[in-house]
Amino acid sequence: MLSSLKIVLVETSHPGNIGGVARAMKNMQVSQLRLVNPKVFPSAEATARASGADDVLAHAQNYPTLQEAIADCQLVIGASARSRTVSWPEISPRQAAQTCLEQPAQTPIALVFGRENSGLKNHELDLCHYLLKIPCNPDYSSLNLAAAVQVVCYELFVTAHEKQQNAALKEQSPLATAQQMESFYQHLQQTMADIGFLQPEKTQSLMRKLRKIYNRTLLDSKELDLLRGILRFAQNHNQK
Ligand code: SAH
Repeated sequence: MLSSLKIVLVETSHPGNIGGVARAMKNMQVSQLRLVNPKVFPSAEATARASGADDVLAHAQNYPTLQEAIADCQLVIGASARSRTVSWPEISPRQAAQTCLEQPAQTPIALVFGRENSGLKNHELDLCHYLLKIPCNPDYSSLNLAAAVQVVCYELFVTAHEKQQNAALKEQSPLATAQQMESFYQHLQQTMADIGFLQPEKTQSLMRKLRKIYNRTLLDSKELDLLRGILRFAQNHNQK
């Protein structure tokens, strides 16, 4: 799911940070690293800090400018710790993950991170659709570069897996149809009448409350079968 995502590092000064970023990416199954004009790369320090994620470093691509690094991307998000006088639409890592995963699969997406000492420049943020800010201590808001990449990739990883799991669950047991729900409500009302629970003058408001409860839970067809089984049992039991 995250295969079309590119982490773009702009003019990184410390090769150790590039290694730290590679490690953070691989932990979260992100593999495409793009480097804009790094000060020192390749480097033994980067490889050491990558600590087993050297395949990410080996496939890293170098670009002379940010424009070239993001040329093929359809969604570009720039990460910055600083508040700006010019305002860009601001999103959190969680919102960024949602936005990325709402795009059609394989959409090339760039997440851009700035220099250790001065971050991203305004003309670089001009190339971005969104400014991503990691919420943190307002008096100490600048994370280490690799830590910032870690937080963003983590949110993407978690959101992607939740989406996958939800899709798998929905496939296993689809939500009940409106018609199935209607039959259930009729069955429920009939059962409550059979067991003497219903007061005729309160039926309508009670049914409305019960609909609200069941609608809130988004029942799937298997869950509905279970509830109807209980209703049938109650009806049979009542006839004895
Ligand atoms: N001193 C720099 C911050 C450099 S940290 C500045 O003033 O901007 C290196 C990079 O990590 C930043 O450019 C940004 O891309 C990312 N980063 C660090 N902290 C962040 C935060 N709180 N929110 C979003 N990105 C952050």
